[in-house]
Amino acid sequence: MSNAFWSPALARLEPYVPGEQPRGQSLIKLNTNENPYPPSPRALEVLSDPHLADALRRYPDPESGELREVIGAHFGLTSEQVFVGNGSDEVLAHSFYSFFQRDEPLLFPDITYSFYPVYCQLYGIDWRTPALREDFRIDVEDYSGAAAGVILPNPNAPSGRCLPLADIERLLQLQPQRVVVIDEAYIDFGGDSAVTLIDRYPNLLVIRTLSKSYSLAGLRLGFALGQAHLIEGLSRTKNSFNSYPVDAIAQRVAAAAICDSAYFKACCDKVIASRSWTTEALRTLGFDVVPSKANFILARPPGISAEALYRELRARNILVRYFNKPRISEYLRISIGTETEMQALVQCCKEITGKHAGGTGAL
Ligand SMILES: *Cc1c(COP(=O)(O)O)cnc(C)c1O
Repeated sequence: MSNAFWSPALARLEPYVPGEQPRGQSLIKLNTNENPYPPSPRALEVLSDPHLADALRRYPDPESGELREVIGAHFGLTSEQVFVGNGSDEVLAHSFYSFFQRDEPLLFPDITYSFYPVYCQLYGIDWRTPALREDFRIDVEDYSGAAAGVILPNPNAPSGRCLPLADIERLLQLQPQRVVVIDEAYIDFGGDSAVTLIDRYPNLLVIRTLSKSYSLAGLRLGFALGQAHLIEGLSRTKNSFNSYPVDAIAQRVAAAAICDSAYFKACCDKVIASRSWTTEALRTLGFDVVPSKANFILARPPGISAEALYRELRARNILVRYFNKPRISEYLRISIGTETEMQALVQCCKEITGKHAGGTGAL
């Protein structure tokens, strides 16, 4: 694998491995937490705007001023409290660079978004991973003591479990000298957002994405919300890396999508309803399903290994996510698709687990 032209730092990197994006389309794709519903029609209208040609000819607004005002207004913040980037992954990367390069280790859960250790390696940040409880709960008391900061997704991934706001507040009080990043990629599916704490906590940075709840994973738009001093820090990093990370189309489409609150809410409600239905249906088949506030569930099948079920589902053209990692290797992460897709998934799970358990799959 090593290459004579690679620097030693490059040779040491272990890049993030994204979920599979298969080409030919007859698959039920429940492996990367995409939204099954299309983006807002108002957002798509932007694409046929004749002014787009001129917008593309020129460089975009480097500070995404209008989009930041729209996002600020949506959350009751000023545009100085909003930073936007090319997907929340980029916003995360800038946050690691801006706030976590310190002598102490960064703290995040042992089971969480696997991009965090990758950014740590990229920027030479040491890290420590307090273990989740047996039922995949985070205990915020584990996040005290000398640290470069704290980062965690809420709801967590891939467990789907969500912390109450009181716990987030406790975390902010445990690390008053350090930035605490709450990665709210999945908060729109039923959790309580920490955005309401921003005015009271100068160390809180909330990161959001349009990839999941707004059905815009292909657009690449993420943002951070926090007090102006943190946002200014992120801008310094961005302006030392790429002045124009958000293209002219993304700035306009994102603003239109965020303004269409009614459509957004209707999609989230449908996903939440399908999540409840799928959770109940799989529990009836004997699965252990971790309670989720995200657009996915983590489920352990009865009488068959998670890896075998993953393969059997794959053979039936249903793609879910299997993690060959300690503690979660007996679970599958299943994204919530349309009602019809979830019915097909449950039906296949019933057939497969029923067969393996000698016909006890149906209750
Ligand atoms: C999907 C996801 C992201 C990345 O979102 P993008 O905006 O598409 O880069 C960030 N954090 C978590 C926890 C995610 O699951």
